[in-house]
Amino acid sequence: MGEDRQHTLSPSAWNRFETCPRMYWLSRQRLPRKAGMAASLGTAVHASIEDLLQIDLSGKNAEETHWLPDMAEKFLKQRWEEEKEIFHSTPRRPMWKEKEWDKAKKMQRGAIKMLLELVGASSVTPLKTTVGIWRNLLSRVIAVEGELRTSDNRLMGRLDMLFADVDDNGELRGWIVADLKTGRAPQSKLKPEVERQLLLYRDILLSNNPNAPPVKTEGWYTENATRYTASGDSVMEDALKAWQATQPSETPLEATPGQSSCGGFCDWKAWCPHWWNWRLENGTLGSEDFSDSVILLHHFDDVNGSGIAEICEPANVEGRAMPTGIQVPINFDGRGKEALQELLATGHQGPIFIGSAMTNRETWRVGHWCDVLAWSPIPDA
Ligand code: SF4
Repeated sequence: MGEDRQHTLSPSAWNRFETCPRMYWLSRQRLPRKAGMAASLGTAVHASIEDLLQIDLSGKNAEETHWLPDMAEKFLKQRWEEEKEIFHSTPRRPMWKEKEWDKAKKMQRGAIKMLLELVGASSVTPLKTTVGIWRNLLSRVIAVEGELRTSDNRLMGRLDMLFADVDDNGELRGWIVADLKTGRAPQSKLKPEVERQLLLYRDILLSNNPNAPPVKTEGWYTENATRYTASGDSVMEDALKAWQATQPSETPLEATPGQSSCGGFCDWKAWCPHWWNWRLENGTLGSEDFSDSVILLHHFDDVNGSGIAEICEPANVEGRAMPTGIQVPINFDGRGKEALQELLATGHQGPIFIGSAMTNRETWRVGHWCDVLAWSPIPDA
């Protein structure tokens, strides 16, 4: 209602839609967003690289070395602190892991390595990188963190880096769209969803710049400092079809439960009855070492975090929770305990969704990595 706001689809939203339309729909319902360490770490690394690509080196001697590592770390630290603050102000969050700082530094180093490789300085260490080399790199930057939008406003994406691709004689060969990836690097080739995302950046860029030189799109994986090229035909038509299918609607979009959708990462299980019915039907409900479940909490000791949970099963397709009579000892600790206390403080009494509890022991463990939310399935219609 009152939905005249233009509907825009981003590559990540498109991927969500392709994984499970309901997941996409739920992500648009203003439900509490989940903070995550991997995402915060990735954002901090991204931002620090963007900072490094926008530095002012004027007045510095071109031969100067030993400046890059400190500057890189300073930027990363700033961004890290910013992300930490955002993380802690997100109510739905796991635990902040300070020890991931080393990982962030390693990722940043991977990104810097690829940047140096771009200007033919792959054998130069950050310490030995001269101001001249970095200036050369900066001269190749066309855009950093730019927003791409089609002229009809239907498709958009946030581009990390756009570089001029030049040959050994300095002649322009084309453009390189580089998307920094801080997730796990592919074994050999890009996953289809990453490929699709990268190609969409390329296609939006081309739609706005019909006279552009040849455009290459690359995923830059910081984990192994390796650049992977995405290639393929235009994905514009498919993206527009997805745009059409993702128009805001009050009726939830179709759910496609399964191993690759619900079994992967879906942040919206507390609002979706489908994973639960799917697991019950295929006999995998509560069968994994880390399982999602819906429970009734019969007892909870606020001090030591121990309690008694009664396992529930779905009574119908809408996910009405039916107690099974099976009771298990359960222990809440760390952020898992805090999340439960926050939920109970709201006066919540009914079934509780627990994401990824450790259920392979006699006592279930709900730790810092777990979701603890009111079970609030949204029915199909
Ligand atoms: S839990 Fe499964 S079916 Fe439900 S939205 Fe998530 S991926 Fe889709």
